[in-house]
Amino acid sequence: MKIGIIGAGLAGLTAARVLADAGHSVCLFDKARGPGGRMSTRRVETPQGMAFFDHGAQYFTVRDPGFADAVARWEAAGVAARWEAAGENAWVGAPGMNAIIKAEAADHDVRWNCRIERIERIGETWRLGHAEGEQDCDAVIVAVPAEQVAPLLGPHAPDWAALAEATVSQPCWTVMAAFAERVDFADDCLRQAGAIGWAARNSAKPGRSGPECWVVQGSPQWSATHLEEEADAVIAALLAELAHATGSALPETLVVQAHRWRYALSGAAGRTMLWDEGSRLGVSGDWLIGPRIESAWASGRALAAAMLR
Ligand code: FAD
Repeated sequence: MKIGIIGAGLAGLTAARVLADAGHSVCLFDKARGPGGRMSTRRVETPQGMAFFDHGAQYFTVRDPGFADAVARWEAAGVAARWEAAGENAWVGAPGMNAIIKAEAADHDVRWNCRIERIERIGETWRLGHAEGEQDCDAVIVAVPAEQVAPLLGPHAPDWAALAEATVSQPCWTVMAAFAERVDFADDCLRQAGAIGWAARNSAKPGRSGPECWVVQGSPQWSATHLEEEADAVIAALLAELAHATGSALPETLVVQAHRWRYALSGAAGRTMLWDEGSRLGVSGDWLIGPRIESAWASGRALAAAMLR
C-alpha cells in the first residue's frame, strides 16, 4: 500500500517505521519547517554562542517494554540519554529533544513545510490536498493534535472528528531565557512553584552546549488565565516567579523569548488509535491515550499493528 501520513511527530513517525518495515510505501507531510512537533528545540544566537531550548516537551518516562526497546535504539544511536535530575526514569533527546524526531524522520520521505488542507475520497483512493498540489494514496493516517483533527476528518468520519473536538488540550506559556552567568540554584529543575508548572536548567541536560539556559513553563491554570497576554508581560511574570522560587536575583539575560502553546498537553480520549479497514482511514496521536511522549509512540505503533492485521 501507498500510505500518506499527516503529521510527522512521534505518533506519525512511529506508525511510519512499522509500516515501512513491513514493506509499505510511506510518505509523511508536516506543516512545520523542520522536525520536532511538540518535541521541538529552538536555537537562538547570543553573545556567548548559540543557546538551545527544548521549548516543548521537557523529558519523558518509559513504561512499555516496546517503548523501552525504542529508547534503547535511540540511546545507541546517541539521540537519547538519561537525565536523572528530572527523576530516575527520565530521558531526554540529545543534544536536543528534537534529535529523536530528526533521527526517525531521516529514514522516511517527509515533506516539511507542507500543510495538508483537505483530504478527499476519490473512488478507492485518498487524495491529500496541499498548497502546491495533491498526493494520492491507498490509506491515510491523521497524526496531528486533537484540535487540528476535525477540519481534516469532519467530512469522512464525523464521529471521530467529534471525539477529537471533545478532547481538549491544556495551554502552556513557555519562557526561554539565556543568562550571562549561572543561576544560583542547586537543583537543575523545579516543579509547581506559584505560577510555574515546571522550570529547568536546559543547558544542564546531557549533550547540551552554550550558555546557561532556562525553560520556564507557566502552570496549565496560569497559562489558561494569561493566554491572551502579551509575551513581554508573560516573560516578566514568569522570570519574577523563577527569581522567587530560586531565592536569588537572576543574572543578566542574554536572550529571552516566550512561546505560547495553545495545545500543549492533550486530553485523553480513552482510545489507543482509530482505524477503519473499509475506507483505510486511521488516526493516531497522544490525545487518544494521554499527554505523554510515550502515548504518542504507543498510539502510532498500535495503529500500524491494526493496519497490518
Ligand atoms: P505532535 O508532536 O504535535 O506532532 C503532530 C505534527 O502534526 C506536528 O509536527 C504538526 O506540525 C503536524 N501537523 C498538524 N496539522 C497538520 C496539517 N494539517 N498538515 C501537516 N502537518 C500537520 N510529554 C512528556 O512525555 N513529557 C513532558 O515533559 C511533556 N511536556 C510538554 C510540554 C509542552 C510545552 C508541550 C507542548 C508538550 C509536552 N509533552 C510532554 C507532550 C508531548 O510533547 C506530546 O505528547 C507528543 O510530542 C505528541 O506527539 P504527536 O506525534 O502526537 O504530536
